[in-house]
Amino acid sequence: MRLFVALDLPWELRDRLSSLAGAGLPGARWVPPENYHLTLRFIGEMPGHRAEDIDIALASLRTRAFSLTMSGVGTFAKGGRSTALWVGAERNPRLGHLQNKIETALQRCGLEPERRRFQPHVTLARLDNVPEGKLVSYVQAHNLFRADPVPVEHFTLFSSKLGKDAAVYTPEVEYGLT
Ligand code: ATP
Ligand code: MG
Repeated sequence: MRLFVALDLPWELRDRLSSLAGAGLPGARWVPPENYHLTLRFIGEMPGHRAEDIDIALASLRTRAFSLTMSGVGTFAKGGRSTALWVGAERNPRLGHLQNKIETALQRCGLEPERRRFQPHVTLARLDNVPEGKLVSYVQAHNLFRADPVPVEHFTLFSSKLGKDAAVYTPEVEYGLT
């Protein structure tokens, strides 16, 4: 199965983030709020026995709960084309620490190190040929966005089924923070 580790977000936060979605961006495919998540580590396709090892490794982590504040919006680009619109997470050492512990645990399970820098975000939309000017004004208009802090008391191992439309994510295991 295709796996990733992420923060599952409380509905109060999803509702607040969804206020950013909807209008003004032709070519944006908005992520449905039930799919909002903050990826901590993408794992990819794994056979069942390795998924079990991963579960054991994640279950052994002891990390503290913290509070998460989402603020600001931005975009990712590939080959000069904007591909995703996201809302960022405010800098938070505890979030970085959690991400780091997960990375170390997964490397001990034999996964290749993640080379990309951790950029905590929640993807709001996938972008196909959105006019650059529209994107710039969207980002400017929403850059002061800030959601109330929410408590993070667990992280989640998700499986992902890719489909024609939005992927379907299923929470497989939740790991409590202390
Ligand atoms: P689709 O690929 O059909 O657009 P998706 O990206 O939502 O759907 P997945 O590809 O299963 O679904 O990805 C699950 C999560 O992991 C998403 O948050 C995605 O952005 C992230 N992700 C996927 N591939 C990588 C990667 N190579 N590196 C880092 N994060 C990734
Ligand atoms: Mg993907």
